[in-house]
Amino acid sequence: MNCLRLDAKNERLIYKKSEIPKVTHDKEVVIKVVLAGVCGTDLHIVEGKFNAADGVVLGHEFVGIIHEVPKISSFKVGERVLVNPNITCGVCFYCKRSQFNFCQQGGMNYTIGISVDGGFAEYCKAHISMVFKMPSSVQFEQAVLCEPISCITHGLDIMGEIPIGSKILILGAGIIGLLWCGLLHHLGHRNVYVVQRSVGRRKTVNELGLGYKCISWEEFEACQKDCPEYKLDYVIDGSGNTDAMFRALPHLQKGGKLIIFGVADPAKKIEVSPFEIYKMEMTIIGIQVNTNPSFQRAINFIEAMGDKYFTFEKLNIRTYKLEEYETAFKDLNDRKYTKIVFKF
Ligand SMILES: [Zn+2]
Ligand SMILES: [Zn+2]
Repeated sequence: MNCLRLDAKNERLIYKKSEIPKVTHDKEVVIKVVLAGVCGTDLHIVEGKFNAADGVVLGHEFVGIIHEVPKISSFKVGERVLVNPNITCGVCFYCKRSQFNFCQQGGMNYTIGISVDGGFAEYCKAHISMVFKMPSSVQFEQAVLCEPISCITHGLDIMGEIPIGSKILILGAGIIGLLWCGLLHHLGHRNVYVVQRSVGRRKTVNELGLGYKCISWEEFEACQKDCPEYKLDYVIDGSGNTDAMFRALPHLQKGGKLIIFGVADPAKKIEVSPFEIYKMEMTIIGIQVNTNPSFQRAINFIEAMGDKYFTFEKLNIRTYKLEEYETAFKDLNDRKYTKIVFKF
């Protein structure tokens, strides 16, 4: 089979032939990959800014069809499935507390497509605990967005109920910002703004048809001046941009919440005074990756939301063949599309 392997030393990917993986124990299945999404993390891995196993097949967002099963299995050959790449052990301290994303044996340290071979290949092996059946009404094009959506549903779990009518600002109109827009709209929120520096990216939000405005900081701050008492209940960062988070803070309402969802540069800091946090009763919440329950909930959201929110055209996503990886990665880096997906 053809696959894309990481050549960490030379900060590049290699397109090469490999053996099709085989089921080696009764808790595994082999999946024929149909679609595999590329995300910002993959770009950072190739650039050497995010650690991954050298020589590994990248691709942690993929969907496909069951190709091989062990003798006894709850999966059947030909079944359409999704994979949560963040393997969990189920027995460590954090797993026992249902904080699966902090798993000491798995989690971030044992992700399919980062630590073990992933979905930028025609076939991929996965532990059955991470494989989910696809509802019949869901398309592969929607299912391939499940991993980033599951991180949002994990965020929603941690944030608790967002009261209807809340004023919400999303930082960044990349794929994460767009998916947050979709979920918040589906949940009934109408008072949502997105700030985005580049004009090109603003267009995708404005054309989603949700009635959400994607504007510049200057435009946002001008409309805040018109109604200073009407500040933000939530700021959701989907950009990892610490300057944007810092700029948003003074716009938080008393009792407001800053949600840090984007992956910021570990070396960067934002300055907040504890007195302000006290006076404003401000909450700062971090959201890291997903859990298996949040992954299942993401599938349920996709099933309920469907084409109204999730089409490649609406979200400005483009598909490429695996061998076109150089152009694909360049186009994603140049922000020509919000996301790129390999189609097999
Ligand atoms: Zn990702
Ligand atoms: Zn664990």
